[in-house]
This record gives sequence, structure tokens and C-alpha cells, in this order.
Amino acid sequence: MSKLALLGGEKEVTIKASKEMFHWPIVNQAMEDAIIEVLRDGNMSGLDISKKFEAGFAEWHNVKYGLAHSSGTAALHTAMYGVGLGVGDELICPSITYWASCIQAQNLGASVVFADIEPDSLCLDPDDFERKITERTKAVVVVHYLSHPADMDRIMGIAKKHNIKVIEDCSHSHGTLYKGKLTGTFGDVAGFSCMTGKSFAIGEGGMLLTNNREVYERAILFGIYARHSEIEDEELKHRIHLPNGGFKYRMHQMSAAVGLEQLKKYPAESAEIDKIYTYFWDKLEGTPGIKAHRPAKDSGSTKGGWYIPVALYKKEELGGLSIQRFSDALVAEGINTSPGVNAPLHKHPLFSTIDVYNHGKPTNSANLPDGIVNKGDQQNLPIAATLSQRILRLPYMKHFDKNIINQYINAIKKVCENYSDLLPGDNNSNEVKDSWNLTKRKG
Ligand SMILES: *Cc1c(COP(=O)(O)O)cnc(C)c1O
Repeated sequence: MSKLALLGGEKEVTIKASKEMFHWPIVNQAMEDAIIEVLRDGNMSGLDISKKFEAGFAEWHNVKYGLAHSSGTAALHTAMYGVGLGVGDELICPSITYWASCIQAQNLGASVVFADIEPDSLCLDPDDFERKITERTKAVVVVHYLSHPADMDRIMGIAKKHNIKVIEDCSHSHGTLYKGKLTGTFGDVAGFSCMTGKSFAIGEGGMLLTNNREVYERAILFGIYARHSEIEDEELKHRIHLPNGGFKYRMHQMSAAVGLEQLKKYPAESAEIDKIYTYFWDKLEGTPGIKAHRPAKDSGSTKGGWYIPVALYKKEELGGLSIQRFSDALVAEGINTSPGVNAPLHKHPLFSTIDVYNHGKPTNSANLPDGIVNKGDQQNLPIAATLSQRILRLPYMKHFDKNIINQYINAIKKVCENYSDLLPGDNNSNEVKDSWNLTKRKG
């Protein structure tokens, strides 16, 4: 009989993890007190605490300006307006990301053009980015996907050469270093989600960072009308008092108060998570069938809070075993895992055929010159299109508990070593269902 639990063997993971192992965010007394204070003061819609939070966040990144928003979606929307994205422009975005990296561009009259990702970093492929540039390209969104830094040296070089603005989406990469420098400090502007599921969690909220005064003032003009008095630019001054565009995006101060406390404890929390996954992957290094999603060790690059840890699956090293069958075997051993993460955005009809604003033509091409149609579903992005067959979500541990971590490691090794037992029952017909929403999962 096989040793594998899926085929009747003993289950490898026998320790039941405590709830705290996966629970997020970690809430301390100082956070609770801070929230009560905001509530009792009736200061939910003020600006004072949010300004302190954004100053702290900006200082952490050694960036001049921070602007607190109601969500990451909002921060990225104002970032796009901030760099001047508008009617008829194109925004290049990797197809594998959460939708809020790009859809707001359509709202500004721009068109989203997708680029492929690199198979190992899972971030924007610089070569494909360059191939997708046209005379209409105004900006690129760089996503440091699942905490892995994108290839900023090459991306910034290409952007500079073609005079393209760079927006970093750091919603997964709080504390991530690229060659020793924090993500969010390379481009013209950066947007961070700080919603509850993210590594740096404050409730609902987002942060914009920039060193560029013009981007900062345009962002205020667009999204934070209560701060229009900060605008100094003579041109923009004529437009203040009402939100240009009609959006009100200021942060709820309960979130800002949590954020101030989070700034204090995030370094220790993310360091512990980094310790967990560094240990985990060091032990699994060289195991046929799986590969870590992490930067090279001596590169100075890191994965911050390891937002959604994943394994890269190599079925060719396991006799072609389907990822679904591999995942089923891990689940049977006692590991909560599932294949697939974000579905490729370019395949969604919102980027091909859907007419959101009654233009009488698809929104994604609505403002392009006559004869130019930009359809996501006609793009050939082979890495993005097949990612769900090569990526496996792992339990997101928050505490370094060697006993449990070792059991997970042993379970994975056991399935990889005994993969041939799984081949006979593998009909390979199990389609992996990934989601455009990245639905919530336990553990
Ligand atoms: C979560 C997320 C966002 C949006 O942030 P919200 O705070 O949920 O609005 C944007 N981009 C990426 C990559 C994200 O994961």
C-alpha cells in the first residue's frame, strides 16, 4: 500500500494548529485603545490622525509625500490621475494581479493593455512591457505580486527610454526590498492597499506615496477635496474647492489610528513571517516538483510580509502529475492548499466587449483613435494564461512554530517523493478554477 494519505496511508500532519497560527491581523491593546479614542472623540472623519499616519508611512519609505485613502483601489485611482492618465491614453498592466491595479484607468477614459508576467517572479515581464508600448502609452502599473519585487532596474530603464510614468502597486509588498531598497520608492507614485487581508492591515484603507509635488497635488485635487488648501500650483489652484472628478476618498480615522499602531509592530511581525518561510523553503530547496517563489538569497531583495505564500509547481519533474491531484494529496496529508491564485485579467470581457458607460462601443477601446481596438481576449500572454496550472497556495502561517512547520515540510516531501503512486488515478481532467476576486480562504 502507498504511504500517501490520499491512498490510505497515515496522515503526515498530526498537530492541530491553534487559531492564532493563521489569524490576521494581530490586534493588540494599543490598537483597541486607539480606536475607542477616535470613536469617543467623534473624530472619524477628521484629518489629524490620518496625517500622522501618512507622515509615518512616508518616513518609513523615506518618501516626501504620503496621502491616506479610503482603500487601495482609491489610492491607485488618484495615483493614475496624479501622473496625468486621461482620455485616449493606454495603461500597461500585468494580466496577473487583483483588478484594482488597472480598472480605474477606464474610468479616466484610458484603455488597459495587458502584458505577460515572468514565470518565476510572477511580476511584469520587462520584455513584454516594452513590446506593448505604443505612442499612446502614458503609464505602466508594476505590481510586486505576492510580495515578490518586480525587476525594477529593467522596468525603470524601459520606462525612462519611452517617457512612461511608473505606478507601483505595492498592495502585496509592504516592507519588500528590491536590491536593498523598499518597493514603492522607485516609480513616480505608489499605491498600497492596507485592507484587512493584506500584510500591513488597518481595516479598509490605502496609501499613496510620491516624491513628486505635482503628482501629490493632482491626487489631492482628484480624491481628497478637504485638503485642497494644500495645493500651491497656480494652474491647479483655480480648480480647487470641489473634487475634480467627483470622488471623495479620504481615510476613515479609525483605520488611520490602527495604522499608526501597525507601523510600530509590523517590522517584528513581518520579520517573523519571513523567518517562517525562509526556514520552510530552505528545507524544501531542491525537492523535485516544487520551487519557492522568492528572490535569490544574496540579491538584497526580500518578500516583506510574504502576502499569500505560494509554491511554484513543476509537473514535468513529477511525471506530469496534475496540480489538482498533487494538491488533493497534500490536503489529505493535512495541509490546507489549493491550486491557482488570480485569474488572468485579460480574459475578462470587461477588457474586450463590455460597454460600461454607454459609449456605444466597448469601454476599453472607447477613446482610442478610429480603427484601433484594444481587446484583452485577443492578447497572447502564455505565462499568465497558464499560471493556475503552476501555482499552489500554501497555509499562511504567522508564528514560527517549528513542530508544525516541520510537519508541513515532511508532508510536501512525502508527496513529492511518492508522486508515482498518484499517477494511476490522475485523469488530468480536473480543471483548476481560479478567481478574478481572490476569494477568502482560511489558513
Ligand atoms: C487588494 C489589492 C488592491 C486594492 O486594494 P483595496 O484596499 O482592496 O481597495 C489593489 N491592487 C492589488 C494588487 C491588491 O491586491
